[in-house]
Formats: sequence, C-alpha cells, structure tokens
Amino acid sequence: MYKLKVEGAFEAAHQVEGYPGKCARLHGHNWVVEAEIKGTELDKLGMLVDFKVVKKALGDVLERFDHRFLNELEPFKDGVNPTAENLARIIYGELREDKIFQGNVSLAAVTVFESPKSSVTYSEA
Ligand SMILES: [Zn+2]
Repeated sequence: MYKLKVEGAFEAAHQVEGYPGKCARLHGHNWVVEAEIKGTELDKLGMLVDFKVVKKALGDVLERFDHRFLNELEPFKDGVNPTAENLARIIYGELREDKIFQGNVSLAAVTVFESPKSSVTYSEA
C-alpha cells in the first residue's frame, strides 16, 4: 500500500455559533488541508498519482473557501457550523469526486489544521 500526502491551504474567517467562548466571535485562521491518497499499484512511471495533479484537485476544492466568511457559504449558511471537523468531511466529499480517484487510487483521508497544533482528520474507514 502506498500513501501519498499533499498539502493545500486557504485563509478564511468563521465563527462557531453557540460556542461558549471566544470562538463564537468572528475570527480567522490560516487553514492548512492535507489530503492523503492511497493505492497499491504504480503507473508505468512508478507513481501512484502525480503530486501536481493531486495539488491541483485539492486547490480546486479549496478555492471556494479562500478569503471568505465560511458561515456564509454552502452548506454552512444552512446552520452547519464551519468547524475543522465539518470542513474536513465536506472537503473529503468534494475532493473524492475528482476524476483522479478511480481504479486503484482512492482518497484515504483529509486533515484540516486550524492551527499548527490543532487538526482533525476525516476518513470513511
Ligand atoms: Zn476558529
């Protein structure tokens, strides 16, 4: 089994509605997102999948969050709090739709770092 990781990032504001503390107030983070891809077979170049291709796919997903107020975006504007947990699951679901995930290559996990020392990993297994 090969596991490959690619990192992306975006800057955005959020507020955690109902949180009993200062995270309920409007504030921002430099969010870092790590995508982990897995597979058992390599292509004829000896790659599971080109890092550049994964970076582009992740960047395309993160683009809609960059320099935005997350609470105003789908699906957060419908009452889903834009926590690192919910972001990790939503990014996982959107990234998984990319055409790079076929055959032997699958998305293993998405990790969202709210800060360098605080992160959440979402996976389906
Ligand atoms: Zn926050």
